[in-house]
Amino acid sequence: MTTTIPDSVDVVVSGAGAAGLAAARALGATGRTVLVLDRQRTPTPVAKGEILQPESVRILDEWGVLEALRATGARPVERLAIRDPHGEPLLSIDYGQLPGPYRQVLCAEYADLRNVLAGGMPGTVEILRGVRVTGALRDGAGRVSGVHTVGDGAGAGGTEIRAGLVVAADGMSSPLRKAAGVGVDRQEYPHRLLALDVEGVDVAAELAAYRTARGLCLVYPLPGNRCRLYVQVRPDEFRASGMADLNPWCDALLADVPAIAPLGSAVRASLRRRQLFAVYRLRADRLSAPGLALVGESAHAVHPMAAQGVNSSLRDAETLAGAVTSESTVDNSLEAYEADRRPRLDHIATVSHNAARMITALSGAPKLLGARMMRRTAANPRLLRQTAGNLSGTDVRPLTLVDRLYQLGLLVDRHANTPPVTATDRSEAR
Ligand SMILES: Cc1cc2nc3c(=O)[nH]c(=O)nc-3n(C[C@H](O)[C@H](O)[C@H](O)COP(=O)(O)OP(=O)(O)OC[C@H]3O[C@@H](n4cnc5c(N)ncnc54)[C@H](O)[C@@H]3O)c2cc1C
Repeated sequence: MTTTIPDSVDVVVSGAGAAGLAAARALGATGRTVLVLDRQRTPTPVAKGEILQPESVRILDEWGVLEALRATGARPVERLAIRDPHGEPLLSIDYGQLPGPYRQVLCAEYADLRNVLAGGMPGTVEILRGVRVTGALRDGAGRVSGVHTVGDGAGAGGTEIRAGLVVAADGMSSPLRKAAGVGVDRQEYPHRLLALDVEGVDVAAELAAYRTARGLCLVYPLPGNRCRLYVQVRPDEFRASGMADLNPWCDALLADVPAIAPLGSAVRASLRRRQLFAVYRLRADRLSAPGLALVGESAHAVHPMAAQGVNSSLRDAETLAGAVTSESTVDNSLEAYEADRRPRLDHIATVSHNAARMITALSGAPKLLGARMMRRTAANPRLLRQTAGNLSGTDVRPLTLVDRLYQLGLLVDRHANTPPVTATDRSEAR
């Protein structure tokens, strides 16, 4: 089948993951013609992007798609609990205490999120699958002015599409980012995450992060009496494993984390559908260049432990659309987008990296410091509320250097039991 591709639109988006679809939705709502291209004809089911923070819930609600997502069976949770391997609580972050109306995390399928974002798009948005973006077009001044594409259908040749704004939403490896010459700093964590889709179980309505001798073990509910189990593994742990080795591996896991023993037979059954992920953090040198915006993992990736990726991607889209509706030129708007998002994304990168280190460090000073910071934070209601706000995205107030000293036990926080002033309090006081 040959795909008909327009040769000119207002906006072309490369990639139809959460970030690309969100950007298309938000920019389409401003009346612009938007063309979304994805190299995959059928999206691959991937065990990622399932925990949606309250900020994502707010955005989805404002875009009118929250009820559609709830209808997929998305599971609400109100607490992130860090527990020891036996299930004893070490630290509990209560989203129910957040100010404002969005006080829940939703656990949903990534495919369902993509579907509800793609469903009921503004009429000016078109999504074409099976079309790969292979490069950036530039005008005489070097400004990005469109894309080169190749379709996968019979007879599909190379095509050029011109656009006033090009959006790179093509994931961590982002061919478009490379073509535009934007560099990245990308670092791999020294472990992998094994993702298991555990069926026929009813787990507590919480994000349960077990801090174990093998590192992180994360459990949360999913639609349809299922739960997600991520297990931290060594990079070589599964390389040589055939099916025959999996039962002893599972025995060892259940012995390491007795709290998940009740899920034992369901975990064993889920092993043949396992997915293994290398885990990275990535920061693009820039979020924009003349004619080009980067959104989602083409611009930033963080450890999944703090579940910030989708939040950031939806917020990128919302901010970008807000910036380009102003009276200024596209390139001035792109500078405004960069100035707004960069500090926030850097903050999220720090929060995510610190949260990941607290749980995934296996030895030495990082492990000891992680344990100490967790104990001090757990005993400090002010820091707990602030951490809930920072993770949720709805009440962000970065920790100060002094807060870090409280966490390390180097200073005593006399205001630990004083409720902090919230964003809502601040606006009510004005
Ligand atoms: C194991 C794991 C668990 C995670 N869990 C969470 C979580 O619970 N909560 C959370 O908020 N975040 C989580 N994240 C992060 C989250 O999944 C990502 O932030 C999010 O998926 C990024 O979306 P994206 O649209 O930028 O990228 P993607 O979802 O990767 O989409 C990129 C799209 O671009 C397309 N594409 C690529 N190249 C081209 C090309 N040349 N031309 C056209 N199309 C192209 C691809 O086919 C793909 O559809 C997790 C990540 C991992 C790895």
